Amino acid sequence: MTGCSAKSVTSLYVHVPFCAHKCAYCAFYSEAAQGDRLNRYIAALIRELELVAGELRPRTVFCGGGTPSLLNLRQWEQVLKAMERLDLLGAAEWTVECNPATVSLDKARLLRSYGVNRISMGVQSLDEGLLDRLGRVHDRARVFKSFDILRKAGFDNVNLDLMFAIPGQTMGIWRATLTEALVLGSEHLSCYEVIYEEDTPLFAQLQAGQFDVDEELACAMYDELLEFAANHGFQQYEVANFARHFADAPAEVPDHACRHNINYWRGGSFYGLGPSATGYVRGVRTKNWSNTILYCDQIEKGQRAIESREELAPLARAGETAAFGLHSISSNKRPVSTCATSGRTK
Ligand code: SF4
Repeated sequence: MTGCSAKSVTSLYVHVPFCAHKCAYCAFYSEAAQGDRLNRYIAALIRELELVAGELRPRTVFCGGGTPSLLNLRQWEQVLKAMERLDLLGAAEWTVECNPATVSLDKARLLRSYGVNRISMGVQSLDEGLLDRLGRVHDRARVFKSFDILRKAGFDNVNLDLMFAIPGQTMGIWRATLTEALVLGSEHLSCYEVIYEEDTPLFAQLQAGQFDVDEELACAMYDELLEFAANHGFQQYEVANFARHFADAPAEVPDHACRHNINYWRGGSFYGLGPSATGYVRGVRTKNWSNTILYCDQIEKGQRAIESREELAPLARAGETAAFGLHSISSNKRPVSTCATSGRTK
């Protein structure tokens, strides 16, 4: 076990387990939003923040999901005020994942005013047909509108999530999406290949023979992505992640790389709060219950909602860090789909 002085954990992940509805490819832990449950979750999350605040001084925060932007203004205010009270503001990098359908100027300004300085927007595609196919709740117009709102609210570090090898996606459609996304001028891109998770509608369609997986096309799309990104000023710093570097001096990773993810990949400590979130503190990997009711029940009893705890011996930890290291660029590996960029498995 490694030593850990007070306030020594510097990364925080917060999972918001609610979505407007389930996307066709998604096997991550999230559920349809319901007013009462959402409010109960917010109270539990604040309680969980109180339980860990004593040894937390966040330099990076990542609020992922699910759909964190689904929280309304009042719910966000509750969380942000609690973080202020607990002296948890001031992170150098603080990301909130947003669905384009749930971005508003009020919410964006509120987040920015408390120190959120990075937004990760789940665009996935700019083709209406493919957005439908994926079961996304937003349309392409909403992506452009929400991006403008984020800029207006003062966000100068925005990531766009894109997906490739979507059933029905031709190379032409992928190129068009890449071109339009690059014109938007975000500072970061995360691009994932669709994977087929059991118990998802997309997997059922594949099993039913409604489409075939075209490995060659997927490889060609990834190659296209690498070329597009390089030609448009992005530096690849991980298999799925591309960022801009504005400083004159060269650096090991581009200056708009996601520091929170880099901490995961390098095996750093982090607290993971909220249902299904994993954490790694003092050599122990923990995982919270992937069930919002169970999570709230436990927290309301005044204890963390930890389902499993595993102490990683230095050798196992080295193996785990190496597994995270697989995220690093390798010539024959394409990135597979996640909802977002936090590096977690949802
Ligand atoms: S892919 Fe993301 S937005 Fe869609 S259901 Fe899953 S967690 Fe929610």
